[in-house]
Amino acid sequence: RTDLAALFIIFGGSGDLAQRKLYPALFNLYQKGYLKEHFAVIGTARRPWSDEHYHEIIMTSLAGFEADETVKKTFASHFYYQSHDVTDAQHYETLKQLAAKLDDQYQLQQNRIYYMAMSPRFFGTIASHLGSEALLTADGFNRLIIEKPFGRDYDSAKILNDELTQTFEEDQIYRIDHYLGKEMIQNIMALRFGNGLLGAVWNKQFIDNVQITLAESVGVEDRAGYYETSGALRDMMQNHIMQVIGMLAMEMPVSFSAEDVQREKTRLFKSIQPYTPAEIKTNFVRAQYGETPVEGQTQPGYRQETNVAPASQTETFVAGKVLIDNERWCGVPFYVRTGKRLARKETQINIVFKKTGVNIFAPDKNDQSAVAPDVLTIFVEPEQGFALTLNGKKVGQGFELVPGQLAYQYNQQMLADSPEAYERLILEALNGDGTNFTHWRELAASWQFVDAIRKVWDADQTALPTYPIGSMGPKEATELVQSTGAEWIFDP
Ligand code: NAD
Repeated sequence: RTDLAALFIIFGGSGDLAQRKLYPALFNLYQKGYLKEHFAVIGTARRPWSDEHYHEIIMTSLAGFEADETVKKTFASHFYYQSHDVTDAQHYETLKQLAAKLDDQYQLQQNRIYYMAMSPRFFGTIASHLGSEALLTADGFNRLIIEKPFGRDYDSAKILNDELTQTFEEDQIYRIDHYLGKEMIQNIMALRFGNGLLGAVWNKQFIDNVQITLAESVGVEDRAGYYETSGALRDMMQNHIMQVIGMLAMEMPVSFSAEDVQREKTRLFKSIQPYTPAEIKTNFVRAQYGETPVEGQTQPGYRQETNVAPASQTETFVAGKVLIDNERWCGVPFYVRTGKRLARKETQINIVFKKTGVNIFAPDKNDQSAVAPDVLTIFVEPEQGFALTLNGKKVGQGFELVPGQLAYQYNQQMLADSPEAYERLILEALNGDGTNFTHWRELAASWQFVDAIRKVWDADQTALPTYPIGSMGPKEATELVQSTGAEWIFDP
């Protein structure tokens, strides 16, 4: 048999994530033959739905697929709905019986994936009930996939982790950071460890600085209630940006296994220079998007958004300089920034190389102003690909240097086969491969780094700087990079 056997129990089966991401991802795995006959899904949520109604929900979430209706219907027939209150022990007993029945019916080999797709405040409760009501099977695998946010600081993350590990072993816990499921984030490893050329220059001797930008063009939309308790630092920096730093900066793992990759990322996080409160103030910038006139109309700033406190101190933008105290990277700034309502939605990484020592083409050999740095750009989204910007001679008389690009963009045809992040990660969890999930030790280290910043910011109630909607953040973010003589390479 080539297909995988498993029962998925999705907590939060009526939710937005389940409908928009999980069901389409499972359907893709079904169409590609990874899931065939031997799978079943139990969706749980509070509402009293019938299986028939649940099937309609599944069909609706597959509306974007061109597949045959009968294929979709056969797929949907593997789904079962169970009304469930996560705090009620009796409901887990019912769930256990249904799970056992489906195990037999579909020959699932007692393999189970528990997917936490509901409010994080229930994650601990669900995990402990799964343990106390003995839902974990003895013979198959039992894996827990858990969504972000994993805690809101180190202390709460630790409490949650302690709760989970009473029922699940670390290697049974798959903490999702969907950034790690992106094609181009995975490609960082290929670029770094599959090219002798790049491997040789990937260090402080050749690299001047590294820049990571995760820009969003949207504002908080209808998530202000959540965002007010989070902010950009927790929402983007602690997880996605830290993981990207880990991928870019870790040492070469002994092998491509989860254990070895997670070990190197953990080592890297431990090497990040901890900042004093004074250093945090100079090395990290926060801001909010302000009220901005756009085409004759005033667009609301963050503080004017519905459900945002008029004097809110929640940051919608973060930029920072991260330093790594190890032999490879000491002295090389990793500049990071993320924010809402920026010029455009784009995730881009720039590796900025050092310039030549002298410029023999200029009247003054020490005049480096006419030389642009060589840059390796990784386009994560929306475009996907990479480009190496090198200097060449401007055509014609004289001898002027101009940058040219060796670019490789993945086209739509190549990307057609690229699985969406959730599809990729669910398959990896089914295969027991945790390489692209986050280990507790990585998470602990990244929370500790972010908590120190949060603490300094929370103690400082001076109004945040604002930036105009459609810009790339406040001037303080530009000045941060200029302080070491660099410029933001991505400047739309
Ligand atoms: P949602 O509010 O749309 O869905 C929540 C689900 O939980 C619903 O099915 C609801 O019925 C169920 N639920 C709530 N309280 C319950 C209770 N007491 N007992 C039983 N069921 C209960 O939330 P969502 O947007 O789908 O997010 C789910 C998780 O995924 C969250 O951790 C979120 O941070 C994370 N996440 C969501 C997205 C997304 O795009 N929606 C992206 C990344 C991460």
